[in-house]
Amino acid sequence: MSVAAIDLRHGQADHADKTMISSRAHEARVDLLDRVREFCLKHDLNVTGPNLSIICNALSGANSELAEAFAKREMAGEPIDQRWIDTVARLDPQINARMSELDQLSDQLEYALMRFAQTARRAHEETSDHRTAIHAQIYEISESEPQPGTKSPVSRVIDISRAMIDRIHEVETAMERSQEETDKLRANLAQARMEADVDHLTRLPNRRAFERRFASASQEARSNNKPLCVAFCDVDHFKSINDRFGHDAGDRVLCAIATTLIDNAGDECFVARHGGEEFVLMFYGADKEMARNKLDGIRRAQAAKQLINRQTGKPFGKVTFSGGIAEVTEDGDNRSALSRADEALYRAKEQGRNTVIAI
Ligand code: GH3
Ligand code: MG
Ligand code: MG
Repeated sequence: MSVAAIDLRHGQADHADKTMISSRAHEARVDLLDRVREFCLKHDLNVTGPNLSIICNALSGANSELAEAFAKREMAGEPIDQRWIDTVARLDPQINARMSELDQLSDQLEYALMRFAQTARRAHEETSDHRTAIHAQIYEISESEPQPGTKSPVSRVIDISRAMIDRIHEVETAMERSQEETDKLRANLAQARMEADVDHLTRLPNRRAFERRFASASQEARSNNKPLCVAFCDVDHFKSINDRFGHDAGDRVLCAIATTLIDNAGDECFVARHGGEEFVLMFYGADKEMARNKLDGIRRAQAAKQLINRQTGKPFGKVTFSGGIAEVTEDGDNRSALSRADEALYRAKEQGRNTVIAI
């Protein structure tokens, strides 16, 4: 067999391997899609972005903790319903790791931009000093060397130096431009960091902002020996608002509820949108009973409102929420307080909704 023939065969085998790999990858994708589809249908789950993300991560094994939680739940024969999925999403510990990775990256980028701006500014100052010094030297030499007609070595040096000055000037202009661009980038980065903490629909702080604030507030409360409470609020029967009035109307209802929360929360309370139709609040310096009274007041304010559908002029009907509260400082572990608040919310739903429970 000739070398060419062997090579050709080798090439064919390579191609066949690649085709086999890509068809296997295709099969795996189809298989995953099938399993996600069956999973949604079997457990009667809505096909929403957040649901798909969680289910995909669990079924594909991309998130091993999720995969394990799903497998355990199925084996125990416990219901995998929207509530359980929401709880898993609400308490997902990996979100913190992902967020701190992002924060680290943007910290590094900010540091690199700052260093670059410093270096460029210093280089700019130095070249500018050199240019002024060379300029002064040339002036002095050319004044003391009146040599009409011929070019002495000194005047050649002067020519070269003049060319250097021009070049330095060009570099300075380029550096000034880079400095301006770096300043713009830094401003954009600062803006992006601010935006990353804001929920685009309600303009409330988002989950990312909450997680960060929760960590620092818990630490502060513990070191100052002051109570801190956390509350999850979930809109009651929100799916039916979407179903009856449409998704856009649902969005407007979420904004109206965000306004009630903010208007009634006061200074000692932090309000964020945790995701979907769920909000999270932190009551600084409040024990469980104080926080419960406060949140119950907000709940009553919301329940007393008549929200009107702007598009039709007709009322949406009563839109209420349920709340679950836990005192973070009651035990040593911040995240277990989130589980307790979640449990309290579950009980509030079980007790008929439009109520606040603290545990
Ligand atoms: P429950 O009282 O038990 O909380 O019932 P629910 O209908 O509020 O709860 P469920 O979890 O069944 O439905 C929540 C719905 O919220 C499903 C989802 O489509 C909708 N939703 C989530 N995020 C948004 C959003 O940003 N805008 C709109 N319009 N709907 C959203
Ligand atoms: Mg919910
Ligand atoms: Mg709800």
